[in-house]
Formats: sequence, structure tokens, C-alpha cells
Amino acid sequence: MPEKILQGIPASDGIAIGPAFRYIPAELTVPARAAESADVELSRFDAAREQARVELQGLSNAIEKRAGKEEAAIFEAHREMLNDPALEGRVRELVESGQTAEQALVNATDELAGLLAGMNDELFSARALDVKDVGRRVLRILLGLPDTALGAVTEPSVIVAEDLTPSDTASLDPSLTLGFVTAQGGLTSHSAILARTLGIPAIVGMGNNLLENVPGGTFIVMDGRTGELLIEPDEEITGRYQKVKSQRESQMQILKAAAEKDAVTANGRRVEVAANVGEAATARDAIEHGAEGIGLLRTEFLYLEDTQPPSEEKQFHIYREIFEVMAGRPVIVRTLDIGGDKPPSYLPFPTEMNPFLGWRAIRISLDEQDLFKTQLRAILRAAVGHHARIMFPMVSDLDELRRARDIVDTVKRDLALASVEFAFDVPVGIMVETPAAAVMVDALAEASDFFSLGTNDLTQYTLAVDRGNAKVANLFQPLHPAVLRLIKQTIDAARAKGKWVGMCGELAGMTKAIPILLGFGLDEFSMNPRAIPEAKRLIGQLTDERAREVASHAMTFGTAAEIENYMKGILTELA
Ligand code: PEP
Ligand code: MG
Repeated sequence: MPEKILQGIPASDGIAIGPAFRYIPAELTVPARAAESADVELSRFDAAREQARVELQGLSNAIEKRAGKEEAAIFEAHREMLNDPALEGRVRELVESGQTAEQALVNATDELAGLLAGMNDELFSARALDVKDVGRRVLRILLGLPDTALGAVTEPSVIVAEDLTPSDTASLDPSLTLGFVTAQGGLTSHSAILARTLGIPAIVGMGNNLLENVPGGTFIVMDGRTGELLIEPDEEITGRYQKVKSQRESQMQILKAAAEKDAVTANGRRVEVAANVGEAATARDAIEHGAEGIGLLRTEFLYLEDTQPPSEEKQFHIYREIFEVMAGRPVIVRTLDIGGDKPPSYLPFPTEMNPFLGWRAIRISLDEQDLFKTQLRAILRAAVGHHARIMFPMVSDLDELRRARDIVDTVKRDLALASVEFAFDVPVGIMVETPAAAVMVDALAEASDFFSLGTNDLTQYTLAVDRGNAKVANLFQPLHPAVLRLIKQTIDAARAKGKWVGMCGELAGMTKAIPILLGFGLDEFSMNPRAIPEAKRLIGQLTDERAREVASHAMTFGTAAEIENYMKGILTELA
């Protein structure tokens, strides 16, 4: 019987074969209904509490096996909270005053959490969030909804979801995640980027019927290179995919071995090929794939994985570990790029019509200066003896850049006054990811030591196309002539001012773009680690002269489709 094949946007290379795990985050709203008798409501509460206890025990066992006793301790603490006499007593009181079990639970946990948060103590604030978490679990059970949180994945599976937020993706356990497939999202939505960084096969933008088509547990094969999802394929087809999977893996091994050497063009010019990384494990992986540095250290995941911002000490240790892994190679640390599709829970986010045009990145850093200073202190301290640079995201204005640099100077002064050791000479640069920055590079050069092109946002903002919206994914064209002109203009203007210019947007790792970018004279290409071996191979095949010819010819076209078509021919020539 022919299997069912669905087509989506190929977002992260790799083949995954296994059962589907459907991730459906539950919407928890307290129903408006009259309360039953107090006895009935209380016994519903007790039964839900009992089930929560069983769930937490299961989670605790699974996490202990996966990550150790320490990691599992949080679920033990949650189990204890279920028995907290203060919580139980308050629920009882509220039920006896006529509330339903759900209302009483929400009110009692809110009150208790408010009390703990009001104590102005880090430990108690953390407990306040735990109380809320436990309350949410019991409420979900009272509402009769299943536990479909990602923590409930207990066997290696392909995650199938409507969409994944970056924090969902960050919380995926790599040892249990064979790959993921989402109905929404585009090539440069942050979950897709993270998948590429982690080397998890991914397909996005599958369309609205995805969850209907893939019941939980269905056996599936997915190919993140082609965007194909096969539902219940037979043994022969599965075997074929298994074979392709191992062929691709051995090809990668060959390319990886060659990638140990520095990247040079066919006429012998050195070009830097670096990696986009979010943690020490990926940094190690990046070196294995031939990374000569980190062109983008994404620090935002540190801010998203927890219910409170990371402390200076925590950041210091993480950055230092990454610098040590990179052993003297250059590392560009991007300061917090949250907001947009990456809002953490602890900041007061307004309801925004257009979050990507709203309170995001450098705008948050300039408003929440304590948060920003804490990060800068951690970076400057960890950078001692290492080759680090600091980079601000989403700058669109010189005044913004000057203000951010002033804060760096203040932090340095404070560290010096407190006799804390820190790296004094850390270059400070910006991402060029707004059209405003791209056309103002000559002016921004006054306060920026270097530039790095962020083509994901630059494409989104230039073409007015939401990078995560599957409906307009076909309009998201980083090779659009308008985007290419801004890229060229940025490189030319930076060069004229004697400034180094790299690229850390996804375009830097796309083979169809590399010859053009090389022809423009880009100094550094930073990409997901797995794209490095092929990028180095391609650079080695091109002379600067040929790259310049290709770039000039590409600039004569009026549409992205024409440029893509032209580049297809060039890549065949270079294969
Ligand atoms: C970009 O916008 O190109 C970029 C690298 O940053 P991010 O994808 O995190 O927005
Ligand atoms: Mg960006």
C-alpha cells in the first residue's frame, strides 16, 4: 500500500524514523459554572491531587534515569507542595465559601504564590513559580486534559506539534528527540534555527491538518532535507530511508575530515568560517565540524529556559566554559535578544500587535538596565584571557548604539572600582538586521568596532514578511534583490570605514548564497555547525575573481526566483 506523504518546508537536515509524539499544550481556563456541594468539590480536588502525585512520580523517575537525582529533585519538591497544609487549608476554606474546586485552587495558589513572591527573596520567588506550576498541573487534571508537556516524552520520538516556541525547543531532550515536525513556522523561525544548531532534523510549515493526520504513536519517517513526512511507510520504504540516512552520515564524515583545515578560496585567500552556537555542547560540535570561531553566541536561551533571569554567576560560568571550549578562537557574544517570538515569562511584556516590531532585543536592554548590566558584567569577567567580542542585536539608530556603549563603559568602571578582574579591550559591534542599520552603516561605524549581518531579520524587515508565518513563507526570500542590495551596501560601507563585516544570519550557510557573498567581500561566514564542511568545500572551489563575476551577474536580476535559478546553475558547475 502506498504510504501517505505530506510536504512541508525543509528546516533542518537529517532523517528521523520512529513514533510520533503529539505535543499539544493545554489551554487552561476556569469554566464558569455553579459549584456543587462542598463535599463533591473537595473530593474532586483530592482526586486531582492524587493523580498529580502519580504524574510527578513518573516524571521524577524518568528524569532521574535521564539526567540524575539532582535534576529530578524539582518534581519531588512539587510532590511535597501538593501536601502543603497551607494550600490545602485555603482551598478547603474557599470551597466551603461556595467556590468550585477549580476557582478555589486558582485563587489559593495565586495567593500563596503572591505571598512568596512578595518576600523579596530569590529562593522564595522561585518557590512562588513552583506553586503556580503545581497549581497548573492540578487544574489541568481537574479540567480533564491530558499531560502532553514535552517533559512527558519518555521514548525516542518525532515531536509533532502545531508550533514550537523557542523555549519549547530549548527544553527538548536531544536524546529523546529524533526530530520535529510543525504545522506552522518558517525556515528562519527560531525553533527551526535551534533545530539546525542542535542537529535535530526538522520540517516546519506543514499546514493546518498536520495534527489530524498524525495520531500519537503513528510510525513516521521524516526527511529534514526534502521536507517530506511519510506516514506509516512499509518496511521496504523505511529500509530505503535508513540506507540514505547512513549514506548521508558517511558523506558528512568525509567532508568533516576535510573541514579541519582553515577555509581558503581557490586563489589562497583566507576567509573565516564560524558557527552559530547557543551552549558549550554545540561549541564542541562546531569545532568537530571545522568552526574557526563563533560568529554568533546566542545567549537568549539562557533567558528563556527558566522562570527567572540567569544570575551573573550562572552566566559567567557558561560563557567561560564556551570560551574555554573555543580555546582562543574568536567568539562573538550577542547580548540578550529576547522579545519578538522569544518573550520570557518574568518580564512585563505588553500585548503587542506586532511583537517583532515591538519591545525586543536592544530596546529591552536599554529599558531593563539591571538585566543588561548583569549580562555585560558576566561577559567581561568571563572574557579574561580569551578572544571575545560583544554584539548588540536589532540596532536601528546611532543614539541607541551610543547609549548601549555608555552602559558597557559604566559596567567596566564599576568592575574596576570593585577591583573585579575583567577583559578591558573587548571589541563592541552590532548586528545589521534592520534596513535602517544597513543604510546607516557609515554613520554607525563611529561607535561600532565591527558588523555582522543578520539576514533573518533583515529579510523579514526589508520585505515585510513575518519570518515565522507559514502562509507567507514563499515570500521570505533572503536572495531577493532588495536584500542583496542592502547586504552589498553594508559590506561596501563597512569596508570604506575599515571595519570587519561578517554574517550570522542563515543565508551565510546557504550554498546558493555563498559564491555571491564571497564576491561581495564578506570577511566571515557564521552558520549552524553542520553546514560548515560543505561551505568550506565550496569556498575552496572559488577564486575571488570568479566569485566577483557571479556576484555582479546575480545583481543584474530583478527577482529572487531568477537569482535562485542562476545560482542553481553555478552550484552544478561547482559540484
Ligand atoms: C538574524 O536575524 O539573522 C539573526 C542571526 O538573529 P536571530 O535569528 O536570532 O533573530
Ligand atoms: Mg535577528
